[in-house]
Amino acid sequence: MTPMTPPPDPDPNAGPNPGPNPGSAAHACSPSASEPVTRAELDAREDALLGPWAMRCSGSRGREHEEPKHAYRTTYMRDRDRIIHASAFRRLEYKTQVFVNHEGDYYRTRLTHTMEVAQVARTAARALRLNEDLTESIALSHDLGHGPFGHKGEDVLKDLMAERGGFEHNAHGLRVVDLLEHRYPRWRGLNLCYEVREAFALHSPKDTAALGFRKGLKPLLEAQLVDVCDSLAYVAHDVDDGVASGLVTTEELLSNDLWREHWEAAQAQEAELPDGLQVLMSVKRLIDAGVTDLVESSRARIAAADLDSPEAVQAHAHRLIGFSDAMHRRQRALSRYLYEHFYCHPRLMRMGARARRILTALFEAYRSEPRMLSTRDRAWADEVGLERAICDRLAAMTDRQAVEEHASL
Ligand code: MG
Repeated sequence: MTPMTPPPDPDPNAGPNPGPNPGSAAHACSPSASEPVTRAELDAREDALLGPWAMRCSGSRGREHEEPKHAYRTTYMRDRDRIIHASAFRRLEYKTQVFVNHEGDYYRTRLTHTMEVAQVARTAARALRLNEDLTESIALSHDLGHGPFGHKGEDVLKDLMAERGGFEHNAHGLRVVDLLEHRYPRWRGLNLCYEVREAFALHSPKDTAALGFRKGLKPLLEAQLVDVCDSLAYVAHDVDDGVASGLVTTEELLSNDLWREHWEAAQAQEAELPDGLQVLMSVKRLIDAGVTDLVESSRARIAAADLDSPEAVQAHAHRLIGFSDAMHRRQRALSRYLYEHFYCHPRLMRMGARARRILTALFEAYRSEPRMLSTRDRAWADEVGLERAICDRLAAMTDRQAVEEHASL
């Protein structure tokens, strides 16, 4: 371990200390080797680095329950840390992205998907002078509302709750962070900032007002960015998982223009690559070209919109973060290819049918005999109604919890 050394004596020839100048971001950011970084310095760093269109911690609408500020973490850093420590975040490890969790250790889970989205989004946020910590918080929380068995599971919960307020994973994500996590003695939920919570609500504009948020606004650029990076990441990693699983072949994939371009470019750079490496090099190019297009197109749109604040972003007529039109079409075509040839593959359709049987049977079993629910779930049912409490219980389950519970009933 490095021993602690005392701070050096002040330079006797340096003249009188001018003292801190609170108005100067440059001064606040000047490194002082002996002092730990302060939150004020980190806030000042945001002022020095971010574009006027970015959301700053200093402009946050805050938390529902006021809390003292932290000494060396900004508001959005704290939100990120709360999300990572949430039990709903840990459960993402055992929830389906495309394959049911126990089908293979190689495939993406909802946790590794989330981490890939966060990685891509942080890179693009930095390049666009957006708030990287806010972007990361939104990315890490964006799938917290998914139940077991991925989109197939979501469809089942949607049908089961159709007459009882419905189910949608973004709206449910907000329930998770606002109501279903228990980590504080004096309030429910994680007490996250308005901006991270608003990202869930503005994802599906028809639900915005119902969820208690301001209507008619565009998402902040940080939230818009996570949306696009979500699809960019899943298209790329699902090609990889599709090929690795053998459900999609590299020969068939060559019928897609975008994929063929990167496949041929990878081949031109390094002839005679073994097939596995050839796929990985092509996926790497696919992500890189997507992010570069996204950053350049978004930068041009942000500049043309002449934005002076995040409020101007939210009042703008259009979303500003996105691919060029050409890249948007090509990404859509690849996503459609995956839908037809991978997500609708008979093996995955069978998995979807199994998810429906399991979740429907569990829902009906708990409804006909609520005493099978835990004491805590029964108390929750007294507050929110039996069906909503059952839906919350099912949505919290991982793939294998649902399978095991179904077997034990
Ligand atoms: Mg996602």
